[in-house]
Amino acid sequence: MSGWGIDNQRNSAQQNLQFTHLYQKELPAFLNALGIGFSKNTVTEDYQLTREKLGTGINGSVVKVIHRQSGAEGALKIINKESRNSELEVKLHAYASQCENVVRILDVYENIYRQRPCYLLIMECMPGGELFDRIQNTTQTKITERDAADIMRQIGNAVMFLHRRNIAHRDLKPENLLYSERNFQSILKLTDFGFAKEVTQKGLETPCFTPYYAAPEVLNEKQRYDMSCDVWSMGVIMYVLLCGYPPFYSDHGFSISPGMKKRIKQGEYTFPDKEWKNISLTAKDLIKRMLTVDVNKRIDIYEFMNSPWVANVREVPSTPLFTSANMMEDPDCYKETQREMESALQTMRVDNKVKIRDVKHSKNRLIERRKQKKLEAGAAPQ
Ligand code: ADP
Repeated sequence: MSGWGIDNQRNSAQQNLQFTHLYQKELPAFLNALGIGFSKNTVTEDYQLTREKLGTGINGSVVKVIHRQSGAEGALKIINKESRNSELEVKLHAYASQCENVVRILDVYENIYRQRPCYLLIMECMPGGELFDRIQNTTQTKITERDAADIMRQIGNAVMFLHRRNIAHRDLKPENLLYSERNFQSILKLTDFGFAKEVTQKGLETPCFTPYYAAPEVLNEKQRYDMSCDVWSMGVIMYVLLCGYPPFYSDHGFSISPGMKKRIKQGEYTFPDKEWKNISLTAKDLIKRMLTVDVNKRIDIYEFMNSPWVANVREVPSTPLFTSANMMEDPDCYKETQREMESALQTMRVDNKVKIRDVKHSKNRLIERRKQKKLEAGAAPQ
């Protein structure tokens, strides 16, 4: 069996399969239950590998492949079998593939690649590329607040699918959000389940208790924390979508600095007037509720999806945003955003002792630096 046989409308019987129950199955049976192919043959028997690189992952490039039988395009990602949680990554991603806003896995091969035992994932090809690359390249038409709300609704849909089933993604960042097509009607989908985990309590994993229905209160603090981090990441993505720069910034370079960590923990960010004065209060309020430091007070994914800004996308004002212009004007700023999200995510994955503190406002140095740059440019001789 292969995922090519299943159309985009996911089979509703499959939607109801519980991850916890399925997880007990061996990988081939697990995938089979989800309508995904599994084989120990060489991948080239079924797929022609092209030289087209779609992106770069931890284990090398993600390349375009062609399904020999149907001629359809796919994307091949290689996961080192010896790396921690490799089977869990495959299972969680395969399971999440049931959601229309998650990149679908079509076939899985278990094989030797470059002398290493590997899983080779064939995913649906996402030629539309990464979320912010598209926004950065939107030169003709400015994205609007309503477009941003629609983007956030699609991300929220993927996250809600996972959280409903007590799965936390834990690596929500712009590079893991891909468009299905190059045109603007295309669907945004979440990928990369390398850090995802199921957050059910031991003891709840009995056949007579389905964690799917567990109320948030039954989850302990650590479990709530993992899911809450996804909402925090969505808050950062939403902030960047609406203005083109991140809410938090590092003092220097690549790793998270103590200063940045402190600012994140204290919820220190601002809404600078230039980009934010025309943005609706509803949007700003939603960001505040997602970036709330106290995990217990931060909104969950259901509150996010039910908020008017997301639930009534058509009523969101179509105010043009500065996002593309800001991203193009200062491309380093986007790279900085990526670095910052990456290090903040790393920190969150190990550091779950978030303290309750008041939100204080302070100056955002990245913005200050950009202002300074502009001043210097203005002062320079013509
Ligand atoms: P890793 O887990 O090793 O970081 P990812 O799954 O994040 O690998 O993939 C790395 C990059 O490859 C992504 O950021 C994206 O640019 C590209 N990519 C991944 N999957 C696809 C796909 N299905 N279609 C097109 N490009 C993809």
